[in-house]
Formats: sequence, structure tokens, C-alpha cells
Amino acid sequence: MSQHQQARTTAATTLADKTALVTGASRGIGRGIAQRLAAEGALVAVHYGTDGPAAQETVDAIVAAGGRAFAVGADLTTIDGVEQLADAVRSGLRAHTGVEFLDILVNNAAVTGQHLAYAETTPDLFDRLFAVNVRAPFFLAQRLLPTLRDGGRIINIGSAVTRIALEGELAYTMTKGAMETYTRTLANEVGARRITVNLVAPGPTETDRTRAFFRSSPEMEARMTQAQALPWIGQPADIADPVAFLASEDARWITGHVLDASGGTYLGPKL
Ligand code: NAP
Repeated sequence: MSQHQQARTTAATTLADKTALVTGASRGIGRGIAQRLAAEGALVAVHYGTDGPAAQETVDAIVAAGGRAFAVGADLTTIDGVEQLADAVRSGLRAHTGVEFLDILVNNAAVTGQHLAYAETTPDLFDRLFAVNVRAPFFLAQRLLPTLRDGGRIINIGSAVTRIALEGELAYTMTKGAMETYTRTLANEVGARRITVNLVAPGPTETDRTRAFFRSSPEMEARMTQAQALPWIGQPADIADPVAFLASEDARWITGHVLDASGGTYLGPKL
């Protein structure tokens, strides 16, 4: 357990009797979010794209810690995959709870880590990025809205790259910009049902995918933390904690909000 997790003071039952779907929870930040929501008492549907065994590891870790979870696989590149996921979540919820109510939808899955020059970005890659990072969360929430209970939560995972002009991330950044617009506008559409829609925007976060790059040398580690106000490399728990807050009753009056969870990445020069 990290020092940040140890420092947490919230009671571990704020989401008792709630159900959640976390997309892209087979690894990385999504796994951290699934574990955190389950630690708060939620039954969590752990979605994966291709890596069923990794999703099962997330489920096993949750169950070993005393939580409840089940895995659901679906390729979010296609609309069929989005519909399959909505159906699988509904049947999983029915099997585990006897009813088909969802309380929390976390749109976390994304095509990440492209780092491609503008000139090398093909129409196929552009379409894939927008299909998984924008179209899938758009239609997943649409298909699950009848299942989402009044007072529910939609939490999108964006990126701090929307306020930074980062080379090699143009198309990816555009998908995250679209998610911010989606968040604000959808919040206004579903607010009458007391459903909140917010976005958490991580900065560089250490996962199995990013670790080799972020920790490639002491110089690289120093470069990473020099670019931030706070002095450590972001961890999945640093993102999962604000997600758990937005999912909680304490955040009932917050909607349409973009919450930067980047440790103050590129806030400005340090004098
Ligand atoms: P990651 O390690 O690349 O994991 C991506 C997840 O999304 C995996 O669970 C993967 O499932 C799923 N996924 C990818 N393509 C899919 C598809 N076509 N269909 C279904 N599922 C698919 O990502 P991460 O670094 O944890 O990032 C999580 C979120 O945080 C993303 O929205 C990302 O944009 C955002 N973010 C990350 C960072 C960072 O530094 N890590 C920084 C800013 C924002 P399978 O592996 O099972 O296929």
C-alpha cells in the first residue's frame, strides 16, 4: 500500500449497495479505479478489451481484498462491441444482484500511447482513436442510461494534454478535448435525473505500460517531476481517489466539471 493510500481517511463503505462499470479495468488506471470503488463497497464490472486473464487478475485482487467484482469483455472499436458490453453488464448485474441497476459508469478505456508525428497519423488510426476514445463512451452511456439509477454517476477519464500542446499526441489530444465537451453537455442533459457527469484529467501516470519509459533513467524521472508542481510520478491511486470522491454522495452538487488530477503538470516555470 502506498503512502498516499495509507494517508486516506475516508470510510471504506461509502459505495455500499452501489454498482459500477469501469471500462478498461484489465490494467493501469482502470484497474486502480475498479479496486478503489470495490474497496468502498461497490460491486464492480471489470471491463477488458482483449486481455481476459488480466481482467480476471483485477477481479481476483478485488475479491481477495473482500470486495465484489465480475469481468466483462468487449471490443470498443465497434458499435456492436459497445452494445455487447451494455448487454453483458446488465446480465452480470442481474446474476449478482437480481436486478439490472447501475450506479456508476467510469469511461476509462482508451487507445493510448501512440506518440506519432502529425505526418505519420493515418486516417485508420485517427478513426480508431475516435471510435474507442469518443464514440464508445458516447454510445455506452446512451445505451446504459435506462439502466443507470437516478442520482447515478458518469465519470469520464480525460487527460491533462488538453491544456498542453504536446508533440506526438495531436489526434489523441483531440479525442480528450471531445470528452470534455461531451462531459459538460451531457451533464446538462441528464441533470434532471440527479445524474452527475464529470471528467478526471490525469497527467503522466505510472502503469505497466508507461513504467519503462518514465523510469528509463534517473534523468527521465527528474524530468517528469520537474514538469509538475508535485514531486512524485503519478500513480493509479492518485487518479482512483478523485474518481471515488466524484462517485460518492459528497460530490452530489458537482457536475459538468473537469477535475485536473495531474500533480500540477506544466502549470508554469519554476523560478
Ligand atoms: P492502458 O494501460 O493503455 O489501458 C487501456 C485499457 O483500455 C485496457 O484495459 C484495455 O483493455 C482497454 N482498451 C484499449 N483499447 C480497447 C478497445 N479497443 N476495446 C476495449 N478496451 C480497450 O491505459 P492507462 O494508461 O491506464 O490509461 C487509462 C485512461 O487514463 C485512458 O483514458 C487514458 O487516456 C488516460 N490517461 C492515462 C495517462 C497515463 O499516463 N497513463 C495520462 C493521461 C490520461 P485490454 O488491454 O484488455 O485490451
